[in-house]
Parts: sequence; structure tokens; C-alpha cells
Amino acid sequence: MRFTHETLPQRVRFATGEAAAAVTEEAELLGIRRAMVIASPRGAELARAVTSGIGVAVLHDGVREHVPVEVADAARAVAAEHDVDGLVCVGGGSATGLAKAVALTSGLPVLAVPTTYAGSEATDVWGLTREGAKTTGIDARVLPRSVVYDADLTVDLPVSLSVTSGLNALAHAVDGLWAPRADPINAALAGEGARALATALPAVVDAPRDATAREQVFYGTYLASVAFASSGSGLHHKICHVLGGRYDLPHAATHAVVLPHVLALNAPHAPEAERRLAAALGASSAVAGLADLYHRLDAPRSLRELGLREAQLAEAAAAILPAVPPSNPATVSRSVLLDLLRAAWGA
Ligand code: NAD
Repeated sequence: MRFTHETLPQRVRFATGEAAAAVTEEAELLGIRRAMVIASPRGAELARAVTSGIGVAVLHDGVREHVPVEVADAARAVAAEHDVDGLVCVGGGSATGLAKAVALTSGLPVLAVPTTYAGSEATDVWGLTREGAKTTGIDARVLPRSVVYDADLTVDLPVSLSVTSGLNALAHAVDGLWAPRADPINAALAGEGARALATALPAVVDAPRDATAREQVFYGTYLASVAFASSGSGLHHKICHVLGGRYDLPHAATHAVVLPHVLALNAPHAPEAERRLAAALGASSAVAGLADLYHRLDAPRSLRELGLREAQLAEAAAAILPAVPPSNPATVSRSVLLDLLRAAWGA
């Protein structure tokens, strides 16, 4: 074996039913005494409860999906004005994303309390949107120093959002198998992450308030996202990045719709990844296993339903092509991309 693997430095706590106590201890370890708590208006009450044991200088609820630069600048100004010494984000990927934007320019430590399965808490990837164009980058300052997972915080996450968000997590695992820095360590994490997600997501659909199933989804999410952080963005993430940034499609649902099509393209050219995924999905083939899972979850399948117009497909294919990673197992041309997008659109 010859490879170089970097493990990101982060503490993670699984603390179902104990978020407030865990946040208090983690904030103490990080020396946070004047926290800026970041949550959406909908999540503000939950955020207050979760941070009830720590010193809070300000609660900021100006969260928007894809972190527009003006939203980031407003949050940075609030952090400076209140002289905060740490950031505690409680919410989905959008709340985590805003905390990362503040950490990027301030170096303040981030303590993340996720309430969806976006997985941003496990990565050092930041994203900002300026006039509809999304820029992402990697920076050690944005990696949350500590993550607290409390499955009780997710029992009210609607089933449809649980499914799309959980499939966003699964996409981290799948794409991680052929991303530019894929290696045996992140492949092992991705395989176990995919197994946990594929087992637990149907259980969440059957019993949305079952915290044990939700805990398993968090476990799978974390493994998949650690794998993704280490392996980098593969073809799937490049496609979703263009679709989300240019056409403002919903993040998690876009990942859910695109994933089976990237798998169908790559699986015949990536036998080791295919075997690992098939085993994780408990199926004879990865493509069939994913199709069964989508059926079981009643997952979204069409970019048309998410708001993409047929006339935009050719332009999207042209925009994705330059970003296709050379590591991708299948050869990708503009017409291959167009076929893939047409299939995902529902043509
Ligand atoms: P989100 O954070 O926008 O949340 C989606 C919706 O769910 C919101 O309306 C939110 O208020 C609601 N919600 C969140 N938790 C809830 C709960 N427990 N119960 C009920 N409702 C709840 O969406 P998301 O999919 O979690 O995150 C998407 C964003 O994260 C995108 O901007 C994406 O680019 C980013 N992201 C970044 C990374 C990274 O590594 N940097 C990884 C994944 C996603």
C-alpha cells in the first residue's frame, strides 16, 4: 500500500438526550465564555435550551442557505461587536455554514450541534455565495473543534427532509469511494457509514420519533462525512455544486436525486467500490441496492420536480465538465454529462 491519509483533528460526542450537558463540557474545554450562538429563527428556542449551561454573549439567527456573503458579513460584524470568544451553531448545514464563515475570518473555535444529516460539521470545507455563484474552499479554521450529536434534537425533523438529508450523507460515502484523495482508510469509513445509513434510514421512515434509529443515522452521517472530508469532492459533488449554486436547487434533495445516476455511471468502472457498496446495502449489486433503498424511502427522483428547466440541462453539462475530477472511474464527456442530467431530470 502506498497512500497518504490525513485525519482531521476534532472531538465528537454522541450524547442522545444530553446535548445541554455535553455542550457545557465541550465549551468549558474550548474556553468559550462569551459564545455567539448561531441558529435559524426556527431553531432559536432549541439553541437556547442546548446552550443554557454556557455563557452566551449573543444569539444570532440570520441564517440563510448557501451563506450569501452579505449574511456572512453581518454575522462577522455581530461577532466583533459582542467580542465573542467562540461560536456554537445549532441547526442544519446552513447554521454550520454560517459559523464556518465567521470562523474563516476570525479564527474563533466552532462547537457544532447538528440537527440534520448534512455532515458539514465533520469537514473543513466552507462555502459562500456571491450573486448566485457559490465558492467553496478548505481551511483548517472552519473545522468545528467539537461536535455534539443528540438524536433527540432530530425526532421532529420531517420525514421527507430526513430522507433527503440522509441521502446527502450517503452521497458523501459513495462519492468518497472515487474522489481525488480516495484511500483505503476513507473507503473503510465510507463503507461502514453507508451500511449504517442504509439500515437506519428506513427505520426512521417507519418510526420518525425513534431516537435509536436517528442516532444510527448520525453515526453513519459522521463516518460518511469524515470520509468525504478526507477524500475530497468526486463527480457527484461537482455536479450538485453546479446545480445548487447556479439554479438555487435545494441542497439535500439535489444530492438525493443525482446520486443513483452517478453510481450507475461509475459502478461498472469501479469494481472495488461497487463490491463495498453492494455489501453495505446488503444487495447483490450496488445499483440494485440503492434502487431498493430509494423505493423503501420514497426518495425524490427528478430534477424537474426540484425546479430545474429542461432548457438548462445543456448549459449545466457545459459548466460541470471542467470540474470533473481526473480520478473519476468512468470517462466523462459533455454528452455523458448531458445524458446523466437528462436521466436525473426525468426525460
Ligand atoms: P438547512 O440547514 O438549510 O436545513 C433545512 C431546513 O430544515 C431548514 O428549514 C431548517 O430550519 C430545518 N431544520 C433543521 N433542523 C431541523 C430539525 N431538527 N427539525 C425540524 N426542522 C429542522 O439544510 P441542510 O441540508 O442541513 O444544509 C444545507 C447547507 O449545508 C447547504 O448550504 C450546503 O452547501 C451546506 N453543506 C456544507 C457541507 C460542507 O462540508 N461544507 C456539507 C453538507 C452541506
